[in-house]
Amino acid sequence: MPSEKQITVGGVPIGGGAPVVVQSMTTTETADVEATLAQARALAEAGCDLVRVAVPGRADADALPAIVAGSPLPVIADIHFNASLALRAMDAGVAAVRINPGNIGGPDKVEQVVQRAKQTGTPMRIGANSGSLPDHLRQFATNDPAGALVEAALEEVRLLERLEYREFKISVKSSSVPVMVQAYQRLSERVPYPLHLGVTEAGPAFTGTVKSSIGIGTLLGQGIGDTIRVSLTADPVEEVRVAWEILRSLGLRQRGPMMIACPSCGRTNVDVLDLAEQVEARLGTYDEVFEVAVMGCAVNGPGEAGDADFGIAGGRDAGFIYAHGLVLRKVEQSQLVDELFREVDAWIAAGMVRPKRGTRKHVLPMVPSA
Ligand code: SF4
Repeated sequence: MPSEKQITVGGVPIGGGAPVVVQSMTTTETADVEATLAQARALAEAGCDLVRVAVPGRADADALPAIVAGSPLPVIADIHFNASLALRAMDAGVAAVRINPGNIGGPDKVEQVVQRAKQTGTPMRIGANSGSLPDHLRQFATNDPAGALVEAALEEVRLLERLEYREFKISVKSSSVPVMVQAYQRLSERVPYPLHLGVTEAGPAFTGTVKSSIGIGTLLGQGIGDTIRVSLTADPVEEVRVAWEILRSLGLRQRGPMMIACPSCGRTNVDVLDLAEQVEARLGTYDEVFEVAVMGCAVNGPGEAGDADFGIAGGRDAGFIYAHGLVLRKVEQSQLVDELFREVDAWIAAGMVRPKRGTRKHVLPMVPSA
């Protein structure tokens, strides 16, 4: 069930129907202000909305004022268990804190942290992780791991609600995709708060991308989830790229051009991989939202990718450029990519008008195999 409540983290709305927010986390030592800010800038450039930094010690907390001042993105301080670091982070002006309220030293400490959060207007991310469940839920977790995650999260929710504090989002992450999917589904039925999705310890780029895409994508496809972090054992910029691809694939947010490309088969007469790589590299320089198809043959290619704004289809010596479902012209193979982008640039300069497909005068002509 989609979240009802909306919170705001550093000016970014989360939940209550707001666009799904992309987060990542720096891998630098937070006390190294320059390195941390450099990574925050790279993440912002890649399209990250919020950046989280680990605050395991006093030196990291002391670096927060400079990081908050210099970061192009709202900064979330990842505290987990230490109440005094949470207080320092909030005093430094962070946009939010990630904390485990059930594990920061008892009711007095929780009250102290919540009071400061109310005074400073700081939201929190709370929630459970399959690797750090409280001891009393470990036995439960052996029979019902998703249920244990939900219960752990609900215990934290009750703790904060008793203190009349409701400015938080919740995560119930697991490294098991079926467990995290179930946990978020069940939690979404129980609380109105925004949910932060992720598959924890998903792994290196390839496996982590697959696991995160399935876990996060399944939930987003059901309308569950308000902010996402793809956890990869890789440069965090990769996490943001994958997160955006998930959102774009589901049509939830758009950013820059999309490319579709055929896998190629025995009908192709061109090196589709090479063409696709050339096109992808050039698309990376555009901010506009449009779709380009790279297809291996002129027999099936244009038809299969007819919904794309532009496309190229390979032939033996010459290929075809097409736009909005119509073949424009035959072009020498070596000129295909340049000619494609000439069309794209002219279309952008003319205002990116998309012809209404149903009212076109011509349908896609059958093009003989080149
Ligand atoms: S577009 Fe042509 S080359 Fe590409 S997979 Fe389809 S039939 Fe094969």
